Amino acid sequence: MHPRLTMVLPLLFACMIGAPAAGQSSKPAPAAAALKGGEIRLTYLGNAGWEITDGRTVVLVDPFLTQFARWGPSGVEPAPGDIYSPDTALINRHVPRADYIVITHGHSDHALDAGYISRRTGAVIIGHETAANLARAYDVPDSSLITVIGGEDYEFANFSLRVIPNIHSALDQKHYYNNTRGITGNAPRGLRAPLRRKDYVEGGNLAYLLRMGGHEVLIMGSMNYIEREMEGLRPDIALVGANSQRLEIHDYTGRLMRALGKPVLVIASHADAYGNPNPSPAALADRRRFEQEVLAASPASRVVHPTWFEPIVVSAVPPKPVASNTGAAEPQAVNPPGISPLVPAYSVAIRTGDQVFVSGMTGIKPGTQDIIEGGVTAQTRQTLENIRTSLGAAGAAMSDVTECTVFLMDMADYAAMNGVYTEFFKVNPPARATVAVSALPRPAARVEIKCSAQTRRR
Ligand SMILES: [Zn+2]
Repeated sequence: MHPRLTMVLPLLFACMIGAPAAGQSSKPAPAAAALKGGEIRLTYLGNAGWEITDGRTVVLVDPFLTQFARWGPSGVEPAPGDIYSPDTALINRHVPRADYIVITHGHSDHALDAGYISRRTGAVIIGHETAANLARAYDVPDSSLITVIGGEDYEFANFSLRVIPNIHSALDQKHYYNNTRGITGNAPRGLRAPLRRKDYVEGGNLAYLLRMGGHEVLIMGSMNYIEREMEGLRPDIALVGANSQRLEIHDYTGRLMRALGKPVLVIASHADAYGNPNPSPAALADRRRFEQEVLAASPASRVVHPTWFEPIVVSAVPPKPVASNTGAAEPQAVNPPGISPLVPAYSVAIRTGDQVFVSGMTGIKPGTQDIIEGGVTAQTRQTLENIRTSLGAAGAAMSDVTECTVFLMDMADYAAMNGVYTEFFKVNPPARATVAVSALPRPAARVEIKCSAQTRRR
């Protein structure tokens, strides 16, 4: 039994959170707490399904609550010719409201529930013609259907949505488009519910960039993408198709992370073993492998394997630097309380564009002018904590640091300093110079460190 706690994810601190979805049950969603300005909440609905909201508008992605019915006592996987209908009890339990439903493609594990949900909630379905025709089979009126083909960038009242041309996972050992299983092609007009599983053909594939509440969320529903369509997008949150089908694709995760500018938060989607509460050891091992792939390409990213129906709240994106009328970012002085200089001769940090320069810091105890006791080891730790505070106030993180200079009063302290220093830079440590000096401005200081950082867009 998992506690139904809301995870609040500040964007600035890198850590691993989120247990694999093993053994969880399809409990009803908890009452949603109110969101603060700039927060968005993502709730995993299983498979590639998501509820995304800023507290005002609810956008669903590929809702497929029906997947959980298969794992009940009388659950079976429907054959292609079988009638395949939405499990309305499961949907009613987990989807209280929807304003929009975006569909990546027409397969039953993406499009099965959308028509029923639209009829029940009035939500507008956005997707390819196939998604529209599958919904029309449930009497969804054309006024609730927005058909897209990829390339659109639509403004809505409370969000905007860029529609990204995409391609499907390379199923069947890359013979997917040979269509031996009848799952490619388009769904025609004129279908009437109840439909058979084989009616849910792909109908082309889309990804989306949802901009909401200051966040940019990349939405994928397959384990494939067109690199040039992803290149230059800068989502802070990426819902990445992550099951083992990605291994059919050359450097799937690395190319994607680089094209997207290494998103701060990477959430594995479509990797929950289709609702199986007891996923195989191989599936669990593959989740760890995906994490490793992300971190190899993007060490500062946070990777989350979501838990069904457990909300993930992502905090507000820090304000971007003010741009001058020349378009260049104005330098911003950053002086966090507690470690601000006594004299206005320098700033603790300067941020200009995506660059952050942190002044030489020593091991002063925040809020005092006293160097912390405990020698070079304690001083190095406090110095780096003060740097972390300075970077955080400038919208950067330790993982953004590109270079440091370490000033020691005595090179005999090198090993002690290094022992602490490496705790703060475990992966890809910054470039560094270490020098011994004859004096530091604070007589009690045995170490001073200055650094520079380059933030990624957040
Ligand atoms: Zn599919």
